[in-house]
Amino acid sequence: MAKFPERVFSGVQPTGNLHLGNYLGAIKRFVEMQKTHPCIYCVVDLHAMTLPHEPEQLARTTREVTAAFLACGIDPNANIVFNQSRVSEHAELTWVFDCVARVGWLERMTQFKEKAGKGRENASVGLYNYPVLMAADILIYKATHVPVGEDQKQHLELARDIAQKFNNDFAPAIAACGFGEAFFPLPEPVIQGPATRVMSLRDGTKKMSKSDPSDYSRINLTDDADAIAQKIRKARTDSDPLPGDEKALAGRPEADNLVGIFAALTDATKAEVLERFAGGQFSAFKTALADVVIEKLAPIRAEMLRLAADPAHVDSVLAGGAERARALAKPNMDAIKDIVGLVR
Ligand code: ATP
Ligand code: MG
Repeated sequence: MAKFPERVFSGVQPTGNLHLGNYLGAIKRFVEMQKTHPCIYCVVDLHAMTLPHEPEQLARTTREVTAAFLACGIDPNANIVFNQSRVSEHAELTWVFDCVARVGWLERMTQFKEKAGKGRENASVGLYNYPVLMAADILIYKATHVPVGEDQKQHLELARDIAQKFNNDFAPAIAACGFGEAFFPLPEPVIQGPATRVMSLRDGTKKMSKSDPSDYSRINLTDDADAIAQKIRKARTDSDPLPGDEKALAGRPEADNLVGIFAALTDATKAEVLERFAGGQFSAFKTALADVVIEKLAPIRAEMLRLAADPAHVDSVLAGGAERARALAKPNMDAIKDIVGLVR
């Protein structure tokens, strides 16, 4: 396979309150990767339309997610930060990929099954097509690395399958257009660290999610110290003391989750956290955990509140980022049209 220059792409949906799972599984990684790679971070507003939404709320949460990116330390000058709908090539490439991807591939996607639930027949076509749009988001920039939480692994595999099939199906045209043996890289998921799947505080078998109806299931980046302390105090646990050995966390999803959060926030391993708290009761551990969460989130929350009062700044970041993203996407889309035979 041809060598592609390394580039990072990832997105977050403006569907509601950003939470600790989004931070540890995704945004914290985004911040780290900007040290080593050119990065594109996108507020994926088109994805947020796949479930019923309020127009006013979508505009507000789009600015809120952007503010969170900035507050967590993403530098919009060194990297590209923008909202997806401003660069129409994402939607355009989705159609091309819709004609490459197979129905059988989409049928296997577990996120669709979970989000559609029993109302499958009534789910939007957009919700079904979500992973194809996600493949287009990544591949329109020929991104090679995609930092995401565990839950997005299957969608990344689909993006790789689409890229591979496009490269195979159009191999002669790709070569004839001067792009050698492959037009798209096969993007790699970057799923790393002790908190790639932060679980709900109410149910250790369910992922922490923006769309969970219970606010007690998650810690929002905008929660104040009292709310954080209360949510952690009420978080579900079992009645055994904390074990000394990481293996003993198996079968104890709530304990495993809280230990994982502590480890991720303090840049330690779960084993190191257990060494410190082994044999102790949850009450003491929860107090220490609340302190750590509050300490880490307080500066992010403060900066998000400051940016909420300065929407003009946030809007200028999105507009500037979109212009730079478009400059990368447009020539790629033109080449794709040439390859598939669309006259332009
Ligand atoms: P929704 O419920 O609307 O799908 P979400 O919380 O899943 O919201 P997304 O915008 O879909 O958030 O995902 C943004 C990023 O956060 C993705 O990379 C995703 O993998 C990651 N992420 C989401 N939830 C978690 C979690 N609980 N733990 C770790 N990473 C997560
Ligand atoms: Mg999600």
